[in-house]
Amino acid sequence: MAPMSPRMPSILAALLIATIAVSGPAVRPVDAVTLEAEGGPSAPLASVAPPERQPGAAAEIVPGSVNRTSLFVDATYDASLRISWGTRKIAVDSTATIRNTSGGPIDRIELNTIAARLGSIQLHSVTVDGVATGATRSDQTIVVPLGGILPVDATTRIRVRFHALLRSSLSGSNWLFAKANGIIDLYRWLPWVSRRIAFDRPNHGDPFETPSSRSVVVRIATSRPLVLATSGDRTSVSADGLIQTFAATNVRDFTVTAATDYRTRSRVVRDSVVRVYYRPGAPGAAMLDAAADAFDILERRLGSYPHRTFRVAQSAGAYGMESPGLVWIPTGVPASNLRYLAAHETAHQWFYGIVGNDQAKQPFADEAAADFAARYVLGLKRGSRCATATLDRTIYQYSAACYYEKIYIQGGNLLDAARRKMGSTAFWAALRGYIAANRNEISTTQTLLEALDAATPIDLGKTLFAPRFPRIY
Ligand SMILES: [Zn+2]
Repeated sequence: MAPMSPRMPSILAALLIATIAVSGPAVRPVDAVTLEAEGGPSAPLASVAPPERQPGAAAEIVPGSVNRTSLFVDATYDASLRISWGTRKIAVDSTATIRNTSGGPIDRIELNTIAARLGSIQLHSVTVDGVATGATRSDQTIVVPLGGILPVDATTRIRVRFHALLRSSLSGSNWLFAKANGIIDLYRWLPWVSRRIAFDRPNHGDPFETPSSRSVVVRIATSRPLVLATSGDRTSVSADGLIQTFAATNVRDFTVTAATDYRTRSRVVRDSVVRVYYRPGAPGAAMLDAAADAFDILERRLGSYPHRTFRVAQSAGAYGMESPGLVWIPTGVPASNLRYLAAHETAHQWFYGIVGNDQAKQPFADEAAADFAARYVLGLKRGSRCATATLDRTIYQYSAACYYEKIYIQGGNLLDAARRKMGSTAFWAALRGYIAANRNEISTTQTLLEALDAATPIDLGKTLFAPRFPRIY
């Protein structure tokens, strides 16, 4: 992610965000169609729910316990999401089909959803192969005991049903899961295989670690026709426009953004389509120019983009944000900052999207790389306004005032120093090689640094990286 204006002290930025929240476009009048009118908040989503295995049928879980979970499983997701525009309520019915590819037995799965922290979640039922399980909430995580051991290569289906309520303000982290300024922002609503990660942090760091899924299908039912910008391609829409189905492959999340009145503009860039979604009054043409230009030059530098469409949506507000196949440009972004923000979030398609990392523990791997790439292609390199720091700490260990200045600015400048030492040709070839070698995986800061070091006879570890990464060198 990136602050709306990285040149602005955080207090001023917070004031500006608060001002925009108050003075921005008015939220449309609440409409009369409610979730209840569609069949009640706990009605089964029969028309759109995925099939479920009968209890006990062909379950591959065996008795016992190993007290182990893993992110490194093959998980596909088939979900229904019901959005009530007027009441800000959502209903989720999601089934994760999980094959244990982790190399060892596991006996629980840990699913993350921001609804557990920001959405006043009402967890209705969690089943494992059709059998109710004693799932518990811990911070942003739903911990699902499997009721036994899932052996290596065995498969289980975990179904989670819940209701949640979107926030109506953008303060704190609310902007990730909110309806404001006529836009619904749904970040990490879909319970996703991860691990227990503390959501609270002293800065705007991303408290997520997201393994890639080869298949996600989401049916979205809405209380009124909405234009939806998601991480997937739309595969069908009902005649009345109220049920839209989306599919995505090789994504780390499935973000949804919605408005009643999004307009779109598209441009073919190389062999992809860049499409912006913006409300009347927002700078749609400038958003498309900024995103298309960034996408073009970054794809040339970093290697081919895996999705047919790259979407750029005006979000409710606060921060720019990355997600697979879709990035958010916040409502009210200053024109002077639009190109930077678009380039930073676009660069995340490669650093975070194509190559994942533990964003909570190793923010350097995606934020420094994305910010370096954005500033390099735009010629916006600048010095840091905080004291020189080590760059191998977690998001929990940097202050709000200096997280951006250290990880993004100092981190990006360190990568640029490596580029100058080894030469641009070798540097960009090494980055392309790193991305190709770690595509759809979760990489590490160490792997990134070693990929650069391996591409030059200069000992970058000793001469450049060691003082800044004492936990690695
Ligand atoms: Zn970022």
